[in-house]
Amino acid sequence: MKVVAEDSESITIDLQETPHSVANALRRIILREVPTMAVEEVLIIENSSSLTNEVLAHRISLIPFITDLENYRLPEECDCQSRLGCDKCVVRFVLKGEATDSKLTLYSRDIKPEKEGEKVAPFNGDIPIVALAPGQRVELELYVRLGKGKRHSKWTPGVATLYREDGKNYLYVESFGFLNPLEILKKAVKIVKNEVASIQKAFEEMTGDAGR
Ligand SMILES: [Zn+2]
Repeated sequence: MKVVAEDSESITIDLQETPHSVANALRRIILREVPTMAVEEVLIIENSSSLTNEVLAHRISLIPFITDLENYRLPEECDCQSRLGCDKCVVRFVLKGEATDSKLTLYSRDIKPEKEGEKVAPFNGDIPIVALAPGQRVELELYVRLGKGKRHSKWTPGVATLYREDGKNYLYVESFGFLNPLEILKKAVKIVKNEVASIQKAFEEMTGDAGR
C-alpha cells in the first residue's frame, strides 16, 4: 500500500498488490470497528429550553469528539465493567447556560470537560446545540465514551470507499473529525492483524495435536 494523497481530512491509498478481499475487509473495518468517541449518555440536571430532553440529548450525541485511543478503553474492554464507567472508559463534560436579558445560543464549544487538560473535546466548536430565550436554562452532564460504528452510526469515523482509476485500485478515507485519516487507517490495519492472529490461534488450537 502506498499513500498517494493526504491532508487533514482525507487520505488516498494506492492498493498496488493488495488483494481486493483484504482491501474490502479494511474498508468494512474502518466503518464498523475503528472506535471513536461520542456522547453516550446525557444526564439532564435542568432543561427549560424549548427542546425536549430527548431531542436535546440526540443532537448532542451526534457531535464528533476528538478521540484519544491511547488513554481510553472501550467500555466492554474496561476492567470496571460498570454502567457509569471509570477514568479509563468515560470522559465527563458539562454543558451549562442561562439566557438572562437576551437570547443565548449554546454551541459545542460550550461543552466543558470536568478535568483540566483533557485532549478529548468536540471536534468542531461551532455546532449550535440549543437556542435559549430569556429565562431559559440548561444544565447537563455528558458521558463521552468510545464506541463502534457497528453499534451506532454516530461512532462511524468517516467515509471509506474503494475505487478503480486508470487500471489502479485505490482506497479513499475521509474523516468526520474524531481521528485523523492516517490514525483511522493505522487502527484499522491493527484490527485486521489482531483478527487474523486470533483466527490463526483458534485454528491451531483446533488442529493442534502436533504430538501425534
Ligand atoms: Zn471503566
